[in-house]
Amino acid sequence: MSYDDGTVQDRRFVEMLNKYQLKATFNLNSGAFGNQDRLQIGDINVDHSHIESAEVKTLFSRHEIAIHTVTHPDLTKVPDEAILHEVLEDKKALEALAGYPVRGMAYPGGSFSNHVVEALSGTGVAYSRTVVNHRAFHLPEQFLTWHPTCHDNDPDRPALTKKFLDPENREVMLYYVWGHSFEFDMYDNAWEKIEAFCAEISRKPEVWYATNIEIYDYVKAANELRYTELGTVVYNPSALDIYLEAAGEMIVVKGGATVEWTVEA
Ligand SMILES: [Zn+2]
Repeated sequence: MSYDDGTVQDRRFVEMLNKYQLKATFNLNSGAFGNQDRLQIGDINVDHSHIESAEVKTLFSRHEIAIHTVTHPDLTKVPDEAILHEVLEDKKALEALAGYPVRGMAYPGGSFSNHVVEALSGTGVAYSRTVVNHRAFHLPEQFLTWHPTCHDNDPDRPALTKKFLDPENREVMLYYVWGHSFEFDMYDNAWEKIEAFCAEISRKPEVWYATNIEIYDYVKAANELRYTELGTVVYNPSALDIYLEAAGEMIVVKGGATVEWTVEA
């Protein structure tokens, strides 16, 4: 799950996520902390005030803090210097609050281009989320254009959830939902609906609940596994435990371990 803008409704939403032991990534605009603001969307006027910088570390302690730029510009419409400034200044400000390297990002307004993606190289940004919903469960081809499954208000969400939780699934599937917690203040029963969703997906033994950067690090570590030519011995040079299917069984390759298995003739 990935939520943008760091508005005051995140307080209630984080409490809900924690109650259901879910994890999310929160994409924050460091230049907006403490701002009192309202947003007019069609006929609806909604509170778009931002959380205070002083509460960032504690509020998101069980989640990931990620970049959403300092002032939320459309990155496809600003000069290169501004792209770098918006990203790196946000990274620096968030790291000062979080106390760890902030490596994730979501494009403000979902706007990106090849040029913006290229500008991110060398900034230390590992991945950046778009708003291009693919309504499927595959891992991203490019982490700097990480397309999600769906928005939390997508009419297909109940069907997608059912498909994801199907006990017949054998493949690795990533269910990636994004949104804005202020939207839960905009529509009737939206808080009740998101809570029902959280309850539905919560505490499934076959599901790994992870932040975006945890998924990124896991995929990178899985891709770094080294196999023998026969394919019966694997070495895991990373510090993470990696799960894979070998000879029809699920095995765990612990960080730093070498594992061998036999194949029935
Ligand atoms: Zn945003």
